Amino acid sequence: MMLERTLVLIKPDGVQRGLSGRVIQRFEDVGLKIVGMKMKWIDASFSKTHYAALVSKPFYPGLEKMITEGPVIAMVLEGLHAVELVRKMVGATEPKSAAPGTIRGDFAHHSYAATDKEGRSIKNIIHASGTLEESKVEVALWFGPSELFTYKTVHEMHVF
Ligand code: UDP
Ligand code: MG
Repeated sequence: MMLERTLVLIKPDGVQRGLSGRVIQRFEDVGLKIVGMKMKWIDASFSKTHYAALVSKPFYPGLEKMITEGPVIAMVLEGLHAVELVRKMVGATEPKSAAPGTIRGDFAHHSYAATDKEGRSIKNIIHASGTLEESKVEVALWFGPSELFTYKTVHEMHVF
């Protein structure tokens, strides 16, 4: 089976807008299993580790400011092709370009044009690991082994 685990963060804008429940609902609706979940308020140092690949980008200072401005809800979702499936549900990075039906397309419309000139980060509600390799690094960064759980869902009988 192509069982994968992926890291999802409801970013501070998503938490502060009260969208957490509706976002989590979408993942439960497709049958993804929540195997870990917590709220965490990260600092600049943790942001630099999480976004290590982006630290040298011009938009990084705005990204760090945004991701540390409030707590995030972090979760690990498990399912078939979970990394690709979750990225499909999350949609394109820029909410203006994200397709309707995706989380970023349905709950935001922020654009690069509106943020770049102000050095702000784009507000797109959610983070999800981009690749299987990224997911392994990110899950290990955010969750210890004792914070991840193994249990059975009905989807394992009726969907898989
Ligand atoms: N970001 C931004 N401006 C950019 C590119 C990225 O503000 O030009 C922010 C945005 O919040 C994005 C995050 O940096 O979600 C991480 O960027 P990445 O390219 O990894 O996009 P993602 O994987 O989140 O779609
Ligand atoms: Mg990314």
